[in-house]
Amino acid sequence: MTPSPATAAQNLPKARTVLRGRRAELAERLVRIQRDRQRQEQPLSADFSEQATERENDEVLDRLAEATAAELRQVSHAIEKLDAGLYGLCEICGEEIAGARLAALPDATTCQDCASDRKPGNGRS
Ligand SMILES: [Zn+2]
Repeated sequence: MTPSPATAAQNLPKARTVLRGRRAELAERLVRIQRDRQRQEQPLSADFSEQATERENDEVLDRLAEATAAELRQVSHAIEKLDAGLYGLCEICGEEIAGARLAALPDATTCQDCASDRKPGNGRS
């Protein structure tokens, strides 16, 4: 089940466009979240119920920022691989990642098997 190199090569320009768009989108979102977060660094309201709400908002923003930053790292990493000519190759086993998986997850850097198969003893050695 080796996809023809032609297929992978044909998909590269599209993957690059998708990943660059995604990276720009995530970077912009992260900036926006951080700006919101900074706005909330201002002194807490005197009102106790307001304070609770503000703290909750901070937590939500922190989690959002964390998730966005993680995705941004993943997308940037996929772009690096693209630039290095290694896009579409699994980082763990070195096999080609299935086209369908890349279509669904353009920033995937591991094949389906390695992604789902972190635990040993799955009888696939
Ligand atoms: Zn793999």
